Amino acid sequence: MKGVRGKSQVIEAEVLIVGGGLVGATLACALDAAGLASIVVDHADPAALIDAGFDGRASAVALASQRMFSSLGLWPAMAAEAAPILDIRVSEGGSPLYLHLNHHQMGEDPFGYMVENRVTRRALFERLPRLPSVRWLAPARLAGLTRSSSGVEARLADGRRLTARLVVAADGRASAVRRDAGIRTVGWPYRQTGLVFTLGHEVPHGNVAHEHFLPSGPFAILPMTGNRSSIVWTEKRDLAAHIARLDEAAFLAEVERRVGDFLGRLEVLGPRWAYPLSLRFAETALARRLALVGDAYHAMHPIAGQGLNMGWRDVAALAEVLAEASRLGLDIGDVHVLRDYQRWRRFDNLFMLGVTDVVNRLFSNDIRLLRWTRDLGMAAWGRVGPLSRMSMRQAMGTLGDTPRLLRGQPL
Ligand SMILES: Cc1cc2nc3c(=O)[nH]c(=O)nc-3n(C[C@H](O)[C@H](O)[C@H](O)COP(=O)(O)OP(=O)(O)OC[C@H]3O[C@@H](n4cnc5c(N)ncnc54)[C@H](O)[C@@H]3O)c2cc1C
Repeated sequence: MKGVRGKSQVIEAEVLIVGGGLVGATLACALDAAGLASIVVDHADPAALIDAGFDGRASAVALASQRMFSSLGLWPAMAAEAAPILDIRVSEGGSPLYLHLNHHQMGEDPFGYMVENRVTRRALFERLPRLPSVRWLAPARLAGLTRSSSGVEARLADGRRLTARLVVAADGRASAVRRDAGIRTVGWPYRQTGLVFTLGHEVPHGNVAHEHFLPSGPFAILPMTGNRSSIVWTEKRDLAAHIARLDEAAFLAEVERRVGDFLGRLEVLGPRWAYPLSLRFAETALARRLALVGDAYHAMHPIAGQGLNMGWRDVAALAEVLAEASRLGLDIGDVHVLRDYQRWRRFDNLFMLGVTDVVNRLFSNDIRLLRWTRDLGMAAWGRVGPLSRMSMRQAMGTLGDTPRLLRGQPL
């Protein structure tokens, strides 16, 4: 295995990862497992990123993503704070018809786990400095990046130079690396905001994930450890700004109206976060010695809790393609190698962007005829075996051509 060599001011590795968020940091761990050395550069201070005030989100970690975390040895640091999702119940405000998916229909495993992003980041940030083949530079600012036929060279604001065979953009939906490479994106803002907070409740949630479709957007109640749930409340943008500023009593009253009484007495725990929602898709996942992963490649509506899982699928596929190329003695930055990655991930990402967009549009309105059709469709969907099994495998992340890491296998 080639290691990272610090030669005075030059740090060398095989892969340079720009952005050490949930996707970029996981990629570094996966590359390490494949024997590929990497440098991770993030402009944010890691201590700030795991601070409780930075990110209030808890993410649905699909079963396949959890298998990857297990095979990378990260899961033990997350397991105690992960709540399994055993059932999924999708309904439309007030309708007696609903879609119910039960994990027993697929076997013993849960659909996935709800894990606070802070917990996943902490597991990754504890691991990165212990991996001898990873150089983690954060906070560090990239001052220049050039990609040529022979390799990648980058310069940090403090003067250090980095060299690699490939650069991976994992710097999020506003990716500067993608922009500087001239890769265009298609997309649009949703006139919706995701309000996120933790709800404490008297009655246990029974590990059921609820998605209520309301006219302004989906309202998700997702099980966390203890008698707590993570709420992702999609609301019209203007109204969301007003709701986010309500005093505690008025805010709780709005929450109670939407949740109902099945969880008993409710309490909003901690702060409220607001995330503007948008769709963005890069017209290509690659350029000379460059690959895009995670939100830098595709940013989607959180309606299905799939954005991050799609990013982790990118990670598993890219790590597998690069490991295979390296074993065969190929140049891992070669366009033919990167095309294998793009072929593997393009349709899956496009499909999920399409599904989340269409479902959000179809359900975020109060047109009566559509309501009836939706309610009947949802109830019928759950009764058609192949359709409900497909939905369950999608939620578990086991549908389609799954990379080895997502099957819990080593690279
Ligand atoms: C309300 C909401 C709920 C969601 N729930 C779920 C869910 O349940 N399940 C799910 O799968 N997904 C969910 N998602 C989607 C998920 O949060 C994102 O897909 C995920 O955070 C993307 O991770 P990333 O690492 O690609 O990007 P980011 O999280 O944006 O990370 C990018 C990293 O790059 C760094 N960076 C940025 N620019 C630079 C630069 N120029 N130089 C160096 N570093 C840089 C940043 O500091 C950051 O660390 C949700 C999204 C929202 C908005």
